[in-house]
Amino acid sequence: AVPLVVAISTAVSANNGLLIRNRTAFENSRKITTVIFDKTGTLTQGSHEIASVVLFDMAMDEREMLRLAAAIEQNSEHFIAQSILRRAKEQSITVPPSQAFTYLPGKGLEGMVEGKDVKVVGPNYISEFNINVPSSQAEEGVETVVYVLVENQPVGYIAMRDQIREESAEAIRVLKQNGIKNLLLTGDNERVAKSVSDQLQMDGFLANVLPHQKQEKVKELQAKGEFVAMTGDGVNDAPALAQADVGIAVGSGTDVAAETADVILVNSNPQDIASLILFGKATYRKMI
Ligand code: ADP
Ligand code: MG
Repeated sequence: AVPLVVAISTAVSANNGLLIRNRTAFENSRKITTVIFDKTGTLTQGSHEIASVVLFDMAMDEREMLRLAAAIEQNSEHFIAQSILRRAKEQSITVPPSQAFTYLPGKGLEGMVEGKDVKVVGPNYISEFNINVPSSQAEEGVETVVYVLVENQPVGYIAMRDQIREESAEAIRVLKQNGIKNLLLTGDNERVAKSVSDQLQMDGFLANVLPHQKQEKVKELQAKGEFVAMTGDGVNDAPALAQADVGIAVGSGTDVAAETADVILVNSNPQDIASLILFGKATYRKMI
């Protein structure tokens, strides 16, 4: 049966934007009972258009804050980083180098720019260290917010708005119709997570999930007897992708995610996950 399965999985991948990296992954795909979606880049486009740039500090102007933030973000592959760097480029800002760079998993980045400590971090970092920031309008909505700190003083924030992919609602609908549960897992804030989950009528969501907690959540579901597929795009997602029964990397993601995954979604289209499961079921039904 091996060559047949290989042939079939190759055909499936060619037609459906799937790159199946091993035979077991294809065999396992039909057993999936729960699909965990990482929000950014799979269910959403990852566009992170900048909605507003707000300054707290009178001594800071928008260009200067973007310049410092971009210096830090050039070390990251996250959509947040791409968006900030794009804005800096549009405004013809010369981005200086940064040194002694530290990655704060699921929280942001820190580094030295021109001798000053600069951080670009999410609301979770702000609350963890009890940093006082003026209350933000953006958090009330469905925006992803990152704060810029210079020498530990918050100088402002950048709010970004992502967009749900057109194909996502149909992908969730088809999964549900076939009795497969779905769950949104994201490092982003509660409001953004709830908004995406509600709009797509998902079974549930978990927000503010740190990278190592993604892997724990997969384990937890497996312990309850679920056969879990997990999607992800980031370096951070690799442990969860490895833990999952079927790890699915998004085509636009990092190499680390792709190397860890069993399946790669070439077009980053969530509908292809449903196709993978249904093709797996149909194939093995025929063979038995
Ligand atoms: P997700 O993929 O679900 O959006 P991540 O774990 O990639 O979650 O990111 C979670 C949060 O960590 C982001 O919403 C942001 O607050 C923070 N973060 C991650 N990467 C960066 C970055 N490059 N710059 C600033 N903040 C970041
Ligand atoms: Mg991510």
